[in-house]
Amino acid sequence: QTAPVTVLGLGLMGSALAAALLKAGHATTVWNRTASKTGPLAAQGATPADTARDAIEAAPLVIVCLTTNDHVRALLEPEATALKGRTVVNLTNGTPAQARELADWAAAHGITYVDGGIMAVPQMIATPGAYILYSGTDEAAFATHRETLSALADTKWVGTDPGLAALYDLSLLTGMYGMAMGVAQALALTESEGIPPRDFAPLLTDWVIAMAHGTIPGMAEGLATGQHLTDVSNLAMNRAAFPNFTSAFTEQGLRTDLFDPFQDLLDRAVEQGHGADGFSRLALLLKKD
Ligand code: NDP
Repeated sequence: QTAPVTVLGLGLMGSALAAALLKAGHATTVWNRTASKTGPLAAQGATPADTARDAIEAAPLVIVCLTTNDHVRALLEPEATALKGRTVVNLTNGTPAQARELADWAAAHGITYVDGGIMAVPQMIATPGAYILYSGTDEAAFATHRETLSALADTKWVGTDPGLAALYDLSLLTGMYGMAMGVAQALALTESEGIPPRDFAPLLTDWVIAMAHGTIPGMAEGLATGQHLTDVSNLAMNRAAFPNFTSAFTEQGLRTDLFDPFQDLLDRAVEQGHGADGFSRLALLLKKD
């Protein structure tokens, strides 16, 4: 007998989560602000609830996946009494501070709160490679529901500070956005000479993967040990070469705004005497004074 679960929020992600739970055999109650979105899930065996309260009362585990945590607060706060004694797993993207605030609110009302960060797109839910980060003050409550949650994706518990799942999530996405910005600029540069993007993409993919493997562990090591000196590629050399990039962008009719801040960072590093260091030094220069 599999555990009953409730899912609040049936957008692209919430619908994928509910479908995965149904597929794993869980009695799944679903609610969405726009009721028509329950239709496809009802066809897969879900029980649609008329109100969020009805949905909450149907299961000890309530998964929430809305657009933002403001929406989550607005939805859950009036339902504190119904939620008492249950576990809320909030898979809405948010900040560490928002997660901690929600955890404090939940604790004050006798609700167990687990925050989560989904490292997958809806199509990846319940497929290999997808995982969800979790954190919260009550690790035992998480352990109780871990098997149910594993129907969604691999589970990665990151700690008892409720803000940690969001912190890991945003950090991973930060790396991804950095890559996406660089890839956008690279494709714009090749396109400016009519190089077919489909021809260039395999070169770029292999290069970015190789550089990720070649760069990230070394930067982590530099930060962990406080030893930023490098014999690979120092900041002074990168600074000297960097105008070649922004000048080429300008020559090719492209904007430089995405890359200008990196020039500033390299300038600052060298001006502060860190020219012989490697990229790990840059992480320290991102701290506000
Ligand atoms: P969608 O835009 O598809 O769905 C948003 C959901 O939030 C809908 O169910 C919507 O209801 C609901 N909602 C919005 N405002 C309110 C409100 N005021 N009251 C009640 N419900 C509300 O987004 P996704 O499903 O894609 O994303 C949901 C969360 O998952 C986000 O935080 C997102 O960052 C995160 N996420 C998404 C990923 C993705 O690839 N899609 C990947 C990882 C995380 P209604 O249908 O009535 O509008």
